Amino acid sequence: MAETWDAIVIGAGVIGASVARELAAKGFGTLSVDRLPAASYGSTANSCAIVRPYYSTTHGSAVAYESHFYWKDWEAFCGVADERGMAAYNNCGCLVTKTGHNGFLEGILAIMDEIGCPYEELTAARMKERVPSISTASYDRPRRTDDPLFGQPDGGRLAGAVFFPTGGYISDPQLAGHNVQRAAEARGATFRFNTTVTAIRRRAGRVLGVTVDGGEDLDAPVVVNVAGPHSSKVNAMAGLAGATRITTRALRHEVAHVPAPEGFDVGKDGVVFSDSQIGAYSRPETGNHMLIGSEDPACDEREWVDADDYLTEFTGMWTALVMRQAQRFPGLGVPGRARGAVDLYDVTEDWGPIYDKSDLEGFYLAIGTSGNQFKNAPVAGEMMANLIEACQNGRDHDAEPVTHRLAHIGRDVDMAFFSRNREINENSSFSVLG
Ligand SMILES: Cc1cc2nc3c(=O)[nH]c(=O)nc-3n(C[C@H](O)[C@H](O)[C@H](O)COP(=O)(O)OP(=O)(O)OC[C@H]3O[C@@H](n4cnc5c(N)ncnc54)[C@H](O)[C@@H]3O)c2cc1C
Repeated sequence: MAETWDAIVIGAGVIGASVARELAAKGFGTLSVDRLPAASYGSTANSCAIVRPYYSTTHGSAVAYESHFYWKDWEAFCGVADERGMAAYNNCGCLVTKTGHNGFLEGILAIMDEIGCPYEELTAARMKERVPSISTASYDRPRRTDDPLFGQPDGGRLAGAVFFPTGGYISDPQLAGHNVQRAAEARGATFRFNTTVTAIRRRAGRVLGVTVDGGEDLDAPVVVNVAGPHSSKVNAMAGLAGATRITTRALRHEVAHVPAPEGFDVGKDGVVFSDSQIGAYSRPETGNHMLIGSEDPACDEREWVDADDYLTEFTGMWTALVMRQAQRFPGLGVPGRARGAVDLYDVTEDWGPIYDKSDLEGFYLAIGTSGNQFKNAPVAGEMMANLIEACQNGRDHDAEPVTHRLAHIGRDVDMAFFSRNREINENSSFSVLG
């Protein structure tokens, strides 16, 4: 006889574990299945784990701002002591340059005002006082490093920047995922690792459960796809390829891990930094280092890949990241040996996630996290569990969308915003910034 569960969660990354935690808290007998040997060993492990409140939409920003409060009080949220220790939130804040590319942040600041999120506008001179090793030279746009104009300022000066105090980063994203696993287990959830889902079983438009490698069947009336960059493969197993307006694809990315520029003290000057003139973002890393990631500038070709078959070595993308960052931090050297991470985003057409039901009854989606949903994991877990509970109790979420209360900031979020069949969000940055 097949083992029977109330809910099976495919994937034990930080969002999968969060969904398991919240379902278990609601009394679902929950099994999480992951092909890897431990929680958050997939794309979560290589996340830059930046927490920031600004997105291109009110709902996106509200969920992100709300999430800050969960990380602030992480131990209380987990409610359990992890034998490996607890992940730390470095609430150093985020500094974002005002550029023509981001509309000088006017749209974002209007959203911040709407949701009551604090910020401070800085002149270029004030920004330099705050982070002395920064250059305030202006660049017209991000360029490829083989462009003859690469590295040449346009003769102007940066218009300034905005500092968002409710942001920062999580020092160890894998540990954060492990914390959530322990929190889920304390609420009764079970985790099975080294176990790959090979088929989704269904009958008469309803999900029956999954089959895992070795041929074992596991039954459940609820199955949740939280498979990260493998999400489209899992949807295909459920017969849902082509069934949604918004789809997901795996996008390869590199992150550079380099010593901080000369004169830069991570402890004193370290902030999350985002600059659309150079097409890069960064955050402090231990040992006076910096992590640098790409903001997907238009000059770069996107590397859509098969999640099971992609290049895991560094390429010219790594060098370009460091050279772009050196435009803003002239003291930054390009190390001879590349260090950092190569991993995949699970990207939708508008770079926003899908938190939704599906056309297969009992089969749910927490996918398309587009390189920007680590921060939202605790809230995403709650939203998904509420949505699943409502749908299992007979609610038609497509016709009557579930709303979710963001308790810390006192707002409701309409979950239709995360629909698999939404119109593409034309306000999106169409980049990792969402
Ligand atoms: C380089 C990089 C930098 C990032 N930086 C940030 C950032 O600064 N801030 C931010 O908010 N977000 C960031 N993100 C995004 C964030 O890390 C992800 O949105 C988040 O970790 C996704 O969590 P998840 O649980 O959905 O997926 P994952 O962590 O990818 O977990 C999915 C799990 O599903 C499992 N799985 C897949 N298929 C199967 C199967 N058939 N059977 C069993 N198990 C399966 C996998 O093994 C994996 O463990 C970044 C991502 C990357 C890659």
